[in-house]
Amino acid sequence: MKNYKIAILDGDGIGPEIMIEAIKVLKVIEQRNDIKFELQHASFGGCAYFESGHPFPEETKKVCDEADAILKGPIGLNHEESEKIPVDLRPERGALLPLRKRLNTYANFRPVSLPKGLAHFSPLKAEIIGDGIDMIMIRELVGGLYFGKKEVGVNDDGLRYVKETLEYDESQIERIVRVGFDQSMRRKKILHNIHKSNVLKSSVLWNEVLGEVAEDYPDVEVKHMLVDAAATALCLNPTQFDVMVMENMFGDILSDQGGGILGSLGLMPSACIGDASAYYEPSHGSAPDIAGQNIANPYSMIGSVAMMLELSFDMLDESKNVWNAMQSVFADGYSTPDLSKPGADVLMIKTDEFGDRVVEALKTK
Ligand code: NAD
Repeated sequence: MKNYKIAILDGDGIGPEIMIEAIKVLKVIEQRNDIKFELQHASFGGCAYFESGHPFPEETKKVCDEADAILKGPIGLNHEESEKIPVDLRPERGALLPLRKRLNTYANFRPVSLPKGLAHFSPLKAEIIGDGIDMIMIRELVGGLYFGKKEVGVNDDGLRYVKETLEYDESQIERIVRVGFDQSMRRKKILHNIHKSNVLKSSVLWNEVLGEVAEDYPDVEVKHMLVDAAATALCLNPTQFDVMVMENMFGDILSDQGGGILGSLGLMPSACIGDASAYYEPSHGSAPDIAGQNIANPYSMIGSVAMMLELSFDMLDESKNVWNAMQSVFADGYSTPDLSKPGADVLMIKTDEFGDRVVEALKTK
């Protein structure tokens, strides 16, 4: 019997609610395979700060270091709660970025997918969605502006100032663009390179390195697009995209837009992959506005489990079964309130009922 240790970081806001549903799914997979998932819960984010004084406590680091994979719920607090914590100990700066750095999970895979049959979830017109949206955004996750040196002070004119540095070296760029090319080879062999080389020197180097790597992938057609144009194109013609590769901040912003064109951030799972470690989390935040009401969409968290089954445990068939089970709940007409907008023709269900229905569907697969 295989034994996998999974670190479970519930997180803040809706994190614990959607994690419960993801664990229900893991239990089904465990019961019918020759496998044991050892779930090790650890505190992470705002909740950890209020419990122990640090958002990424030493015990949590140990649990993460010893795990075969990490399943992480969203973290973060609303504005008022954040203000109660020193700036450098707030959940993102004190826990999320250090986790990414520690594991060196430089490649973030964010699928943006909506079958034609679910076009009614999207704010876009059916004719724009056509045969469906099916792309993957690949975001560099441990470099760029979010990790650069920061300086805060008062300048010679007596004015408060801030300086943040955007830095990439060629090896950081090469490894992430290779991930983009490798994905393209497995899919339609079209890679959209998202950049801002008309303004940023970092994008000039990015494009140079990408051009060099492209020589190893003669079958892949590269399409270059400025990030601002890409934002428009995602709304006007999203089906042109298959694989998109981009630096950290561009990926942070455009992938939220990805959730927007699907109809909800609740449809956005993700995988964060390094050479030796991996963790899986929804792309979205902790949604404090709907926390504790049993109305969050757990698709993003359960989809993150599906990605973990495929990428960390090599269980491709079970991964597909999880995706199919979720799609079949939608196909039966059910969804959580985020997708039950006027005219969406959806039977509204709560977070836990969505999870239960996925489990029932999974048991038939
Ligand atoms: P958010 O992503 O939490 O929420 C944006 C909107 O999407 C809200 O209206 C929310 O209700 C909705 N939403 C998000 N996930 C949903 C789901 N599963 N089901 C239904 N609706 C959903 O963004 P925010 O409100 O700007 O940020 C809240 C906190 O999360 C902040 O502290 C932010 O820094 C943090 N954050 C954390 C991560 C992470 O843990 N990786 C990512 C992004 C933001």
